[in-house]
Amino acid sequence: MAYDQLNVFAKILRGDIPSQKIYEDEYAFAFYDLHPKAKIHALVIPKGVFENGYVFHQCASDQEIIGFYKAVNKVVDLLKLAENGFKLVSNTGVDGGQEVPHYHIHILGGQRVA
Ligand code: AMP
Repeated sequence: MAYDQLNVFAKILRGDIPSQKIYEDEYAFAFYDLHPKAKIHALVIPKGVFENGYVFHQCASDQEIIGFYKAVNKVVDLLKLAENGFKLVSNTGVDGGQEVPHYHIHILGGQRVA
C-alpha cells in the first residue's frame, strides 16, 4: 500500500490544517486528538512517511525509531501522566481499526482508561 500524502496527519505535519500541538522535535509531532476518548487523549506521529506501525518498525532507521519513542515519553512527561499511568494504543490496518493511514500512537490518560 503506497503512502497517501493526502491523509489528515500528513496535512497536519505539512501545516495544511491546524492541530492542537503538544510537542515537536526532529522525529515526532504530538497533538491532541480531535475526538478525545479519555480526559487526556494525545496522538504522537513520526515525521517520516510510514502508513502504520508495522511499516514503521520495518522501514524506519534505528535513529527514527529511537527518536520517535523517546518523543512519546516526552509527551507523557509534558502531560504529567507517568505517576498515575496511561494507555498506549496503536491501531494497524483494516482489522486493527486504523482510520488514518499515517503511523500514530494514542496516549490515553487522566482517568482510569478501559
Ligand atoms: P485511528 O483509528 O487509530 O487511525 O485513530 C485516528 C484518530 O485520529 C482518531 O482518534 C480521530 O479522532 C483522530 N483524528 C482524526 N482527524 C483528526 C484531526 N484533524 N486532528 C486530531 N485528531 C484527529
